[in-house]
Amino acid sequence: MGKQSSQSLADQLKPYVAPFRYDGTGEFHLKSHKTNERGGLDKEKGEKIIEANRKRLSDFQEKLYAQDRWSLLLIFQGMDAAGKDSAIKSVFDGVDPQGCEVTAFKVPSSKELDHDFLWRAAIALPERGRIGIFNRSHYEECTVVRVHPEILARQKLPPKLITRDIWRERFEDISCFERHLARNGTVILKFFLNVSKEEQRARFLDRLEQPSKNWKFNMGDIAERKLWAKYQAAYQDMIHHTGTRHSPWHIVPADHKWFARVVIGSTIVAALDKLDLHFPKVDKADKSEFKLVRQALLDEDKSRAVKKSK
Ligand code: AMP
Ligand code: MG
Repeated sequence: MGKQSSQSLADQLKPYVAPFRYDGTGEFHLKSHKTNERGGLDKEKGEKIIEANRKRLSDFQEKLYAQDRWSLLLIFQGMDAAGKDSAIKSVFDGVDPQGCEVTAFKVPSSKELDHDFLWRAAIALPERGRIGIFNRSHYEECTVVRVHPEILARQKLPPKLITRDIWRERFEDISCFERHLARNGTVILKFFLNVSKEEQRARFLDRLEQPSKNWKFNMGDIAERKLWAKYQAAYQDMIHHTGTRHSPWHIVPADHKWFARVVIGSTIVAALDKLDLHFPKVDKADKSEFKLVRQALLDEDKSRAVKKSK
């Protein structure tokens, strides 16, 4: 990549970002997105990009934190075994843990069900200067809840409010919520880890066969696998209705874990590059004060040396 240095970082990474982005312009067909895409790379080349992106991400994160203006919200969705956990672990390897927070959204608690469905997402949002990672999110509200009407029935909603428009209404409310966040300085990037049914089968088998992976296997996952087509339909509709310019979806080919990491890392780095992040400048008055303090610290050392020699 060295010889392309006249290009901006975002431009360099574009081949691993643009083909996978859906921002609401034009049609969207999940079926036309390949799960086993490799972007013309092999694993070795991919690993180099992953490593370079880690370093870039770590540098940007420091500036994001120091500048304390923007925040970054990263949303990860996907079927079981799509690789959400391991992608988060890999992409953020080396990033200062104090600057990021991962929230895993599970089956809502009774306290959470006593609130509107965006409440638990809202209280987990990143502060300015920070990166918030949602491992699953409010989007479960129009996927798992849509596929399982019995879950919706347990949500304690006034029955009158549950109409056939409920999914369209949820898409609309989520989009307004995200637009509000974007207008207040939260950069939102959403990732759908698009794995094939065949690759999921192979990963489940792996979890059953390798003792160190047994714990990851969940009987319930097999029941969800049977509902594959319903989930795909729910994801299709959800991405189509909630991909926007201020909150785009990225359909990440996830059969090759390394390529998924290339796409995710590149997308985040390209977005941060466009923010023009920099360390806050110290003003003149502070600078002259820094000089005095520095001198005083240096003098401390000298006087200690004098004492010692006595
Ligand atoms: P895992 O990500 O494998 O730890 O599993 C978390 C489980 O919680 C998944 O089966 C999700 O579908 C489920 N879950 C997350 N959010 C919700 C929600 N809002 N309503 C119902 N189930 C959910
Ligand atoms: Mg699971």
